[in-house]
Amino acid sequence: MRLPRPQLIRFFSTPRVAVIGSGPAAFYTSLDILKYDIPVQIDMFEKRPCPFGLVRFGVAPDHPEVKSCQERFHDASKDPRFQFFGNVEIGRDIKLKEIYDNYDSVVYAYGSSKENRLGIAGEDHPAVINSKDFVGWYNGDPRNQDLNPPLDKAEQVTIIGNGNVAMDIVRILLAPSKHWENTDITPYALDMLQKSIVRKVTVSARRGFLESKFSNKEFRECLDLNKYGVAFTGWDAETFEPLLAGMKLGRVEKRRLQLVQKYCQPAAGGKSWRLDYLQTPLGIKVDPKEPSLLKETIFRKNRVLPSGEIVPAEELNSVSNQLLILCIGYKGEALAEFGELNIPFDANRGAIPNKEGRIEGVERSYCVGWIANASRGSINSTVADSSVVASHIVADLSKVQDTAKKGREAITKLLAQRNVKAISWDDWVRIEQYERSQGRKLIDFHSMLSVCNDGS
Ligand SMILES: Cc1cc2nc3c(=O)[nH]c(=O)nc-3n(C[C@H](O)[C@H](O)[C@H](O)COP(=O)(O)OP(=O)(O)OC[C@H]3O[C@@H](n4cnc5c(N)ncnc54)[C@H](O)[C@@H]3O)c2cc1C
Repeated sequence: MRLPRPQLIRFFSTPRVAVIGSGPAAFYTSLDILKYDIPVQIDMFEKRPCPFGLVRFGVAPDHPEVKSCQERFHDASKDPRFQFFGNVEIGRDIKLKEIYDNYDSVVYAYGSSKENRLGIAGEDHPAVINSKDFVGWYNGDPRNQDLNPPLDKAEQVTIIGNGNVAMDIVRILLAPSKHWENTDITPYALDMLQKSIVRKVTVSARRGFLESKFSNKEFRECLDLNKYGVAFTGWDAETFEPLLAGMKLGRVEKRRLQLVQKYCQPAAGGKSWRLDYLQTPLGIKVDPKEPSLLKETIFRKNRVLPSGEIVPAEELNSVSNQLLILCIGYKGEALAEFGELNIPFDANRGAIPNKEGRIEGVERSYCVGWIANASRGSINSTVADSSVVASHIVADLSKVQDTAKKGREAITKLLAQRNVKAISWDDWVRIEQYERSQGRKLIDFHSMLSVCNDGS
């Protein structure tokens, strides 16, 4: 449903809006702008041939209800005011300056491209894998299709970090392969899960139980693995139960405590997982007999002071594992021309500084989603942020008296001159239909392009 023109806002021309990225932030912002009954052209640029960002390459295969937002995103394409340019990277195929030359508003919604690093010795060993690559591997990101994690050789896996991505990975590692059979997991990942010998997973975090990063919903999904005989065997109860007994807990923490107490059970020799707290990773030891695998990960223990402060302790702890997966978050990066164009970037946070999505000190520029929020937030929180950003964009656009910007007309010419094959929404629909007919995702971009070119 289109919203009426906001009161007192009149449009004198058809302003052009460029949206960089095509994940949830880009789509919800575009859809929210389109809801206003205003003349506008919105052009969305995505560096990959396929849209949807982390909804396609991040969200776990057993979360189809989360991925269903893709259906909603199709609505944008039905509006002639919207156009999709897939396979067009801003900064490579089209310069950012050219975007400013041809659009009245620029929306940065390009997510976070890097993973955080631990900075410990041995981090580059092949049996230390970051979650971005691991998740990309099972979700069919072309860059990770050859990762081949040695799940057929690793009985014990440690995950560092205890956010929701870690919970997704616990399920990938421990749920039986039949759990994944009717999902969109890649065939090669399913094949590896069938050969997997992983039996024990330790999820390790530097801080304490109250600082756990997972949501109770995702945690509960892992606890529910007990229906497959996967036991949840521990959570540092000896340290935390006495501490928590004297505290007034909030609703979420209370529920989390109930869950660990209810589900914790002794290891019975089958598959199991546990939560370790107060562990700072120091380094890894490689298996001397099988140098492609690890022998253990060494942690320094931390302790909680009566004030609640967490401080380093003397004690070391070593966890036997053949594989280590780092789930310590993602980080956004500046686009190459930011310096030249005076677009601010907070390199420490990995985010564009902004006030409700308006980029500080730069006119007609906005940011939304992970690049605005330092790689934090769920799809739901993006929905709320996008609506606020869209309302600011519409209010600012109403002040555009007469636009001379050429938008898609100019960009289409530039792409043709540069021989860049942009993927249109119709092309994407063809790829999607092909994937549905085959019951699997296309993994490499060349196959996507050939489906567009010859429909085969
Ligand atoms: C492993 C994982 C699992 C998750 N599971 C859930 C879940 O179950 N539920 C939930 O609510 N949230 C989940 N999230 C969080 C959710 O994915 C994010 O909140 C959301 O994707 C952020 O949206 P975004 O649009 O900011 O970024 P993204 O989804 O990352 O989209 C950014 C897009 O911009 C494109 N891009 C980058 N640079 C350029 C450029 N220069 N030119 C053109 N395009 C560019 C990228 O290719 C990408 O498509 C998960 C996140 C991860 C990492």
